[in-house]
Amino acid sequence: MNFPPDVPSFEPEQLLSWAIQQFGQRFAVVTSFQKEGMVLVHMAVQIFPKVRVLTIDTGRMPEETYAMMETVRQHYNISIETLTPDATESSRLVTLHGPNLFRQSGALRKLCCEVRKVRPLARKMTELDAFAVGLRRGQSEERAHVEKVAVDGPRLKLSPLADWDEEQIEKYLTEHQVPVHPLYAQGYATVGCHCCTRAIQPGEALRAGRWWWENEGDKECGLHVTPKGQLKRELDVLLEEITAS
Ligand code: SF4
Repeated sequence: MNFPPDVPSFEPEQLLSWAIQQFGQRFAVVTSFQKEGMVLVHMAVQIFPKVRVLTIDTGRMPEETYAMMETVRQHYNISIETLTPDATESSRLVTLHGPNLFRQSGALRKLCCEVRKVRPLARKMTELDAFAVGLRRGQSEERAHVEKVAVDGPRLKLSPLADWDEEQIEKYLTEHQVPVHPLYAQGYATVGCHCCTRAIQPGEALRAGRWWWENEGDKECGLHVTPKGQLKRELDVLLEEITAS
């Protein structure tokens, strides 16, 4: 997928506007209703009220996320396309490894994220030529090199806020009165599955509240950073058990 050379220098609204014009209904904003994602939803809806908005319901979301989903639906008068794990895959996952497999090892944690998040989104991707996510370079070391426009297989992955900092996000949310996920008021810096996300303490890294029991490795689910090396090999073997027909 090619794109004009000036596109990566576009400001966020300009980039969203370009993608909406270019791809129409084959473009979507993918969000878990965190602050960055909400900035994108707000911008995109102002540009095109019928823009597609996707989210992934892993089956392990906190109640506050469902409340937020309802707030966003009503505030913007939009539908939110909700992706869910394949029922057979999630049944095998729990049958083979138990409901809380993510506590047992890094590979099993990645397997859970793969079945509940990565694969549902991958299936939906066949309908899209481009999508936008709320990644920022300042969020973590793993995200330090996020590009505003990246080729992701046969489609474009846009991160319009890649070079924004937290202050810009907060300012935008306040100025535009954008709904904010209620868990931020409880000390959360990121929002994910209820069993794998906690509030952070002052001074902790932004993503310290994700999978905090893991001593090493990335704080990623696989949606944006693919596992590598031994972990990738272990994951492939585990996944084969779940997906083999
Ligand atoms: S965040 Fe936790 S519960 Fe959610 S998909 Fe990943 S491992 Fe599973």
